[in-house]
Amino acid sequence: MPEIRSGTILISGASSGIGEACVRDLDARGFRIFAGVRRDEDAARLRASASPLLTPVRLDVTSAGSIDKALATVEQAVGRAGLTGLVNNAGIAIPGVVEFLSLDRLREQLEVNLIGAVALTQAALPLLRAGRGRVVNMSSIAGVVAAPFLSPYAMSKHALEAFSDSLRLELRPWGIEVAVIEPGTVDTRIWEKGLRTADELMQTLPEEAERLYGEQIRAMRAVTEREAAAAAPATLVAEAVRHALTARRPRTRYVVGRDARLAVRLRRWLPQRLFDRLALRSLGLPR
Ligand code: NDP
Repeated sequence: MPEIRSGTILISGASSGIGEACVRDLDARGFRIFAGVRRDEDAARLRASASPLLTPVRLDVTSAGSIDKALATVEQAVGRAGLTGLVNNAGIAIPGVVEFLSLDRLREQLEVNLIGAVALTQAALPLLRAGRGRVVNMSSIAGVVAAPFLSPYAMSKHALEAFSDSLRLELRPWGIEVAVIEPGTVDTRIWEKGLRTADELMQTLPEEAERLYGEQIRAMRAVTEREAAAAAPATLVAEAVRHALTARRPRTRYVVGRDARLAVRLRRWLPQRLFDRLALRSLGLPR
């Protein structure tokens, strides 16, 4: 397989954080980028600071109409050359206590992080086949290790891992590579948004939930704030995405960040119950 040095890449969730870092990294290297955004101001901001090859496209991954329109724009531009890459990056993080979890919030979480990625991939596959492109799915360390009080997010990322494995095997005949990126804590707005969501959820929880879980939730919140403060830069994830999209020999999984590498190793080597005890201790939760 030759190294890929040019081509067209569609990236969802490009307005901020990791998606924006990927856009900037690949745009600077001469790739033609279609950057999925949901607001005009994000489109304008990206356009103002990127090369003329960058095209922002309106893309809400929970809307079939939006996906169709975005893909029609890409298809019109690339024609038979097709797509070199699709980065399913759009995501949100919804925390929750399983016992009191709103199923609507769970649906919302899965709709964006999982169904959205599946729907966008389905729509992009004819163009990816034409361009012998690659798919890169933005999973997380939460796709490997599920933390307490983050089950909606962890479920979505575990499912994204399964989707990626099935897809990789199904697409073998066409040489379409599929990779998952598994970052640990990365410095983006997702943390601030997640903590805000957690605070909103706390307001809606019944008193009983506060009595049963209040202390644990507060401990978890403090750890989350600490982790967010020590987060890795989004550019580190963009480098892994670039490798997955362009390398002669792309990997199927990229674990990004020291925290993620440590968690993956411990999860692999330690017996589950010992791992659980260590996890609870590091989170300051009762063992
Ligand atoms: P950000 O909140 O900065 O970025 C999330 C992006 O997803 C934004 O562009 C947002 O757009 C977009 N988005 C949200 N909902 C939709 C939707 N329905 N349709 C299209 N786009 C949508 O966070 P990150 O950069 O951190 O997150 C990017 C990805 O990285 C996510 O999949 C996340 O799970 C994953 N990740 C993040 C880690 C971290 O520590 N930050 C660690 C591991 C994985 P808008 O601005 O319009 O809301």
